[in-house]
Amino acid sequence: RPELKIENLHVAVDGKPIIRGLNLVIRGGEVHAIMGPNGTGKSTLAQALMGHPRYEVTAGTVTLDGEDVLAMSVDERARKGLFLAMQYPSEVSGVSTSDFLRTAINARRGEGNEIPLMEFVRKLDRALKTLEMPQDMVRRSLNEGFSGGEKKRNEILQMMLLEPKIAILDEVDSGLDIDALKIVARGVNEMLSENLGVLVITHYQRLLNYIRPHFVHVLMQGRIVKSGGPELAEALEAKGYDWIKEALGIVD
Ligand code: ADP
Ligand code: MG
Ligand code: MG
Repeated sequence: RPELKIENLHVAVDGKPIIRGLNLVIRGGEVHAIMGPNGTGKSTLAQALMGHPRYEVTAGTVTLDGEDVLAMSVDERARKGLFLAMQYPSEVSGVSTSDFLRTAINARRGEGNEIPLMEFVRKLDRALKTLEMPQDMVRRSLNEGFSGGEKKRNEILQMMLLEPKIAILDEVDSGLDIDALKIVARGVNEMLSENLGVLVITHYQRLLNYIRPHFVHVLMQGRIVKSGGPELAEALEAKGYDWIKEALGIVD
């Protein structure tokens, strides 16, 4: 089973400390949810894990199956099996979604191990069905003229085809109506196995009705301040975040 291990992570943006001592282990077969008020560093965590140059890791370690993730380039992280929904270019003229996907899959599989065309077509068809995406969508230029909902589905499509070890979904629910949300969740649920660990980052509990997390973590002030099971997400939905701040004496 894959394992992503984050220890004592500190991340600064423009010199300002945002993530301040975060610990988290995600293993294959597990769904973790990180929830938290706006501006507490959820996206900063995701960007730092994927190696966005603006997000400077000032302390701590991140390993994927024992390998030092922080020493890897962005491309290498993707090749090794880290996936961030949002990591890919939003619009690319002249490159069809399907060509883009095949190139990305082959980069992940490595030279000499390219995906046979028929296998690619079969996997693509299957994922398109799951996500209720029309066939002709993948012939269009990547994300060009896609609606918000179509872009989100496209991100999940990428995840389904790339078969990452660890997938990070940052606010994949934002701007989706309930039907689109269910479809996106179906794609994630279909992928879940011992070979995939998922980190779902969300401000709202809604998504977690469809992608059931095993573990829920509350991020505040750049740290995980509380962890629990799915019931924690329900408590947050019902009561908001203030009771946690009060219980922990957090002032902001
Ligand atoms: P969340 O995703 O939890 O809403 P973010 O990680 O986006 O929070 O932001 C955490 C803090 O870091 C905020 O104060 C935000 O203004 C700051 N921040 C994040 N990214 C940037 C950036 N690229 N440039 C400047 N400040 C940033
Ligand atoms: Mg935000
Ligand atoms: Mg965010």
